[in-house]
Amino acid sequence: MKYDYLIVGAGFAGSVSAERLAQKGKKILIVEKRNHIAGNAFDEFDEFGILIHKYGPHIFHTNSSEVFKYLSKFTEWRKYEHKVLANLDGELYPIPINRTTVNKLYNKSFTSDKEVSDFYEGVREKRNPIMNSEDIIVNQVGSDLYEKFFKNYTKKQWALDPNQLSPSVCGRIPVRTNTDDRYFTDKYQFMPKDGYTKMFEKMLNHPNIEIMLNTDYKSIINEIEFEKMIYTGPIDYFFDYKFGKLPYRSIKFEWKNVKATKLLKATSYNFVGQKEQYTRITEYKQMTGQISKTTSVSYEFPTFVGEEFYPIPNDENDLIYKKYKNESEKLKNILFVGRLSEYKYYNMDQVVGRVLQTTQKM
Ligand code: FAD
Ligand code: UDP
Repeated sequence: MKYDYLIVGAGFAGSVSAERLAQKGKKILIVEKRNHIAGNAFDEFDEFGILIHKYGPHIFHTNSSEVFKYLSKFTEWRKYEHKVLANLDGELYPIPINRTTVNKLYNKSFTSDKEVSDFYEGVREKRNPIMNSEDIIVNQVGSDLYEKFFKNYTKKQWALDPNQLSPSVCGRIPVRTNTDDRYFTDKYQFMPKDGYTKMFEKMLNHPNIEIMLNTDYKSIINEIEFEKMIYTGPIDYFFDYKFGKLPYRSIKFEWKNVKATKLLKATSYNFVGQKEQYTRITEYKQMTGQISKTTSVSYEFPTFVGEEFYPIPNDENDLIYKKYKNESEKLKNILFVGRLSEYKYYNMDQVVGRVLQTTQKM
């Protein structure tokens, strides 16, 4: 059997590529090293019957009607707007920082955007140029809010000081003057009604798509005949680390099931202090809307051990990545796409958008 495409990885990058190309009549083999499809968006029922996300909370949000329309072919949706509370020394505050956060923390009673923006204006420390993740926050809200809500969480998450990370990392989190306590403000915010894995099953259900699980592509590549390849795994692994290892951050998850219908006051708590080693806890039922007598919660402990979850955006790592990217561009029959392969801190919708664009041209 000769395939038109060998696709490495069955996450968003690999699966959307496979679906698009299969629609064009191409014969596809997906090789996935894990024992399941859906990549880091994989969800399943735990031993207590609760639908959980094995690799941490995944909330779909996008401003792209194209991406939303595309995924809607494979799932119905449940309206869901994510909310997170920051746990600072046992007290809970809305994060992203908003008017409520400021009022509670500083015992103020601001009622207008203007009062809050004047407050930020009074405490911010101008940084120009914005070189890193410390600059981008301190420049907006000054050092007290930065130290309380960003410094420790970031150090735990990345094992780096915010001043060693690109501004785009902490810059993911907005600062608000109103009382909007949603984590995201995108136009489309939903959860797949029956979960991500079901959505992927539907996407990959096509006679032109074969899937080989539990297989590292390097162990079979010499036995498979194919015209072209799409690679969505870590780019440094593809090139046998010839320019050195690119650091990726991983997470160790600990799980707890509690006999309660609801445990937390919001879906996730971000632990922004130094006391706890974990960064956040998440109660999955609040995302999925599942009804049950018990509830399951994950604790996230960032680590360098284990599978690659997060590229670590900074200048030093960018330099290494560029060497790999240059090499990858010499390989005309191989497309490198996705969060691990492009070493970019992409959200799900960004990966889908990239693949839709690229496969249109193929
Ligand atoms: P992946 O999902 O990582 O898929 C790559 C696949 O390739 C994996 O299944 C891997 O096993 C496989 N693979 C790797 N190497 C090999 C090999 N050698 N051989 C065979 N197979 C291989 N995004 C959002 O939009 N919203 C969120 O709320 C959100 N929350 C997140 C929370 C966490 C904890 C994490 C880690 C990520 C989160 N994301 C979120 C990001 C989201 O997971 C990614 O954008 C998306 O999964 C990227 O898809 P991908 O296909 O590029 O990568
Ligand atoms: N961050 C922080 N405090 C918070 C939330 C986020 O310091 O309460 C920083 C931290 O560096 C984090 C980054 O902002 O890694 C991006 O946060 P996001 O919630 O987008 O992370 P993800 O969901 O991708 O893990």
